[in-house]
Amino acid sequence: MADVLYFNGRFTTTDERVLGVEDRGFQFGDAVYEVFKFVKHRPAFLFEHFRRMERSLEQLEIENPFTEETFASTMHELIARTSFDDGIVYIQISRGEGRRAHFWPEDLTPTVVAYSRAFVFPDAAKKERGIKVITTDDQRWHFCNVKSVNLLGNAIAKKAAQRAGADEAILLADGFVREGASSNFFAVKNGSLITHPLDESILPGVVRDRVIGLALSSRIRVDERPLRDAELFDLDEAFMTSTTQGVMPISEIDGRIIGNSRRGEVTTELQRLFDELESR
Ligand code: PLP
Repeated sequence: MADVLYFNGRFTTTDERVLGVEDRGFQFGDAVYEVFKFVKHRPAFLFEHFRRMERSLEQLEIENPFTEETFASTMHELIARTSFDDGIVYIQISRGEGRRAHFWPEDLTPTVVAYSRAFVFPDAAKKERGIKVITTDDQRWHFCNVKSVNLLGNAIAKKAAQRAGADEAILLADGFVREGASSNFFAVKNGSLITHPLDESILPGVVRDRVIGLALSSRIRVDERPLRDAELFDLDEAFMTSTTQGVMPISEIDGRIIGNSRRGEVTTELQRLFDELESR
């Protein structure tokens, strides 16, 4: 069954073909996107996703077709029209459609597509078991803080993880750990969190930000510094964060067991606090 689709100001379904072949998102990856979660028809952290989308658009000098209010009302309507209760919304805004040329005309109208998809979020067993990850070189472009649709480096890393029987790839550069191919990375050592600071080499994850806030209010120290790759194999615990996975423990990195192979105490507590916050 087709899902509900929002396209440039109107609602339709995902079986309508809406994009032109000369849309710059399609030809140049000249577009930004967001993914947010909804549970029982209620979106989670909608404002935070809007703010990040606004910043991504600003960086690429693409005009934001939404205000905070029109974004909220459009996304609420999209979810209200959706036939299932729980899922994700994918929204993409490209610079627009125009005769193919690297330099873009100034007068393009951004193309907006947004649609809902049913999604199976991790169950209690998976949240306890955690995931296996591999490490791989970060081959992405230089502005990973922009949530652009240039995801080829991420997709190649993720495919390598899948081929190795793992769920996620941790991206390394110059001997340091950055983030996952589609998640942020956290290490736990001596009761403190270590995670890469916000700069151009990682995405400012919505869940990352919330988890740091929760840690600080629980008096868990947070060290925002790049972790050396050699430190990866001397951790007490490790976890990743993302909209679809929440706080997800990491049980193995490159086949080596982290901690005592069971979900660690700090991870368990932050997972509990985050799930509680998200469902509020
Ligand atoms: N880092 C990358 C590269 C991502 O693609 C994502 C999510 O898709 C994240 C981090 C996590 O971000 P968020 O917590 O906002 O989902």
